[in-house]
Amino acid sequence: LLLQNRPSRLPLLRIFMSRLYLFSTSLLSLKLHRGRCVNTYLFMMQAQGIMIRENMRTIGAQVYEQVVRSAYAKRNSSVNDSDYPLDLSHNDTFLQATTFLPKDFTYFPNNTCPERLPSMKGPIDVNMSEITMEEIHQFFSKDPSIKLGGHWKPSDCLPRWKVAILIPFRNRYEHLPVLFRHLIPMLQRQRLQFAFYVVEQAGNQPFNRAMLFNVGFREAMKDLDWDCLIFHDVDHIPENDRNYYGCGQMPRHFAAKLDKYMYLLPYNEFFGGVSGLTVEQFQKINGFPNAFWGWGGEDDDLWNRVQFAGYSVTRPEGDTGKYKSIPHHHRGEVQFLGRYALLRKSKERQALDGLNNLNYFPNVTYDALYKNITVNLTPELALVTEY
Ligand code: UDP
Ligand code: MN
Repeated sequence: LLLQNRPSRLPLLRIFMSRLYLFSTSLLSLKLHRGRCVNTYLFMMQAQGIMIRENMRTIGAQVYEQVVRSAYAKRNSSVNDSDYPLDLSHNDTFLQATTFLPKDFTYFPNNTCPERLPSMKGPIDVNMSEITMEEIHQFFSKDPSIKLGGHWKPSDCLPRWKVAILIPFRNRYEHLPVLFRHLIPMLQRQRLQFAFYVVEQAGNQPFNRAMLFNVGFREAMKDLDWDCLIFHDVDHIPENDRNYYGCGQMPRHFAAKLDKYMYLLPYNEFFGGVSGLTVEQFQKINGFPNAFWGWGGEDDDLWNRVQFAGYSVTRPEGDTGKYKSIPHHHRGEVQFLGRYALLRKSKERQALDGLNNLNYFPNVTYDALYKNITVNLTPELALVTEY
């Protein structure tokens, strides 16, 4: 889609091809370096080849978009120009087996829950099949420890983090129950205190993911003194329960390896899908920008804000940051073509547009598993004076 606005295709295509080349050569060197037999290597290459061919048609456009964004981000960033390491054969199960607590670990109700619990086993059995919200309600109604709005906290130890999970939403009803099916048990195994906030956009304006997150934050803080915020796309299903949804000293990018990007980080500055900040960090960067209407760019602006505030972003190790994305069409959604112009002004706009110029009039309702905050968003609700 971006192609239409870009007169010169060749340089970008070259970047795209070199990425592919990098991908295959790194595989080569890794495999040979490890001293595996040549047959294994050939098999791997063949398998990868099949995978690449099969995915190319659907993935091509998405990778292309990311390459464009990457090239753009690089041109505009003086902060960090390094590439994400392509650790394709990285296997962390062996390494982590020693650092996670043993099965017979004893919990104490007055002690803080550890971060590396024996209940966190690693890879999750992902079930992408459709399920109704009624079925999910029925399933989780068996667990009386889940309170109204999907609020839960561990009883065998003190939660390390109070986590508000914010989900931007409009017309993706089939995704929500699939997400809950995976997220609720995972967060329980991680012994975090949590609740879900589905922030739904009403009205006819283009979708504004970032502004919805700002609204969700404000509303969530009225409920409880949350200390950690997770910004979660509704269609991202974690594949590993050791992807710990607590916060840290630095903002975190959880969705580091997406199946739709062949489990590669599309570019170093990618901050989309699932990210997390402490309340303190989020307030310091003045939240998300409100001015991104339509698809794209708001996650890159958040990355810039985080850098300008002096933070650096951390990511889960190895395969821990894997996600499956629920396939979807962009039903009538529009791209935000003004994103590159705004991204050039990230720094100047940071103090002017965000939590501090946000107005909204929410309609709040409760579901057994989440709190719904519906807002009609318009640009007049977040005016920017001048810069
Ligand atoms: N979203 C939504 N309805 C929309 C557009 C977006 O609920 O019409 C939310 C949803 O949580 C989704 C996220 O915003 O996962 C990111 O949008 P999208 O999935 O369209 O982005 P892409 O996957 O194409 O990057
Ligand atoms: Mn999506």
